[in-house]
Amino acid sequence: MIVLVTGAAGFIGSHLCDELLKKGYNVIGLDDFCTGNKDNITHLINNNLFKLVKHDIIQPISFQVDQIYNLACPASPDYYLFNPVKTIKASVIGTINVLEIAKQENARILQASTSEVYGDPEKHPQKEDYLGRVNTVGPRSCYDEGKRVAESLMINYHKQYKVDIRIARIFNTYGPRMATNDGRVISNFICQALKDESITIYGNGEQTRSFCYISDLITGIIKIMEQREIIGPINLGKPDEISVIELAHMILELTNSKSKIVFEERPEGDPMRRKPDISFAKERINWNPVVDLKEGLKRTIQYFENILPNKKE
Ligand code: UDP
Repeated sequence: MIVLVTGAAGFIGSHLCDELLKKGYNVIGLDDFCTGNKDNITHLINNNLFKLVKHDIIQPISFQVDQIYNLACPASPDYYLFNPVKTIKASVIGTINVLEIAKQENARILQASTSEVYGDPEKHPQKEDYLGRVNTVGPRSCYDEGKRVAESLMINYHKQYKVDIRIARIFNTYGPRMATNDGRVISNFICQALKDESITIYGNGEQTRSFCYISDLITGIIKIMEQREIIGPINLGKPDEISVIELAHMILELTNSKSKIVFEERPEGDPMRRKPDISFAKERINWNPVVDLKEGLKRTIQYFENILPNKKE
């Protein structure tokens, strides 16, 4: 089995490569390192089953492969807002390029989609048949609309060319190897708490998210890929909803931090509530995330404690 993982040096991509290598697959990890981090994959460099290719998926490329996981895209709001045009190109042109490989090679392909396809949802929790509320000209559109086009490309390559596709809609995920500087709430709060710096809550902190630990997510992604005949998107996330302010207090407690909470302006287009309905994943792939938020946060805090240079003594 030869598997191509695009975005292999990213947070999710690197954990996915680890699991696929454990299964004994040959893995080609592709990344252009625009947001990926070589530290996430240095431990794989001497693995004979792993091959790293530095390449921007916006440029066409071909490989002989059996499966493709398409994860290449800047994925945190700070990252994608920094280069919105590259972001939308990664989802649109990048997805066309990997679909062409899948078509050529008769390979199965999984698209990493996102809960952002639901936008700022009026329906709660979000089920796969909810069509979303996305602003085509809003600040997040480069990511949201890019991923929506990627889903559309997947389904249309399936209809027209019989490409064997899978779509995973990934909700907020956290764990070791999250980038320290990508602006996400869990990495921001943990880094701030470990340095006794102010915890920055955007808005009043009543907005909610539902956080899934990385190992649970990886199990789900691989299950979707390996299940026969699932066409159509599947939500992957942990439905335990928590407000941003509750999360801040939990991280303060777990880190024993002296940080103060400060309130800053809430970014435009920031969704108010988000929680996946995962009944489809439970039923079709027998997937149920098991890592409890406190336990996952402890493991993530330990990771940041090891890598932060200026943490308090
Ligand atoms: N957030 C926050 N402080 C931070 C970073 C994020 O209050 O330092 C909030 C952000 O406004 C959002 C939530 O936390 O409501 C989750 O943000 P994140 O960027 O992690 O993910 P996304 O908005 O893409 O779900």
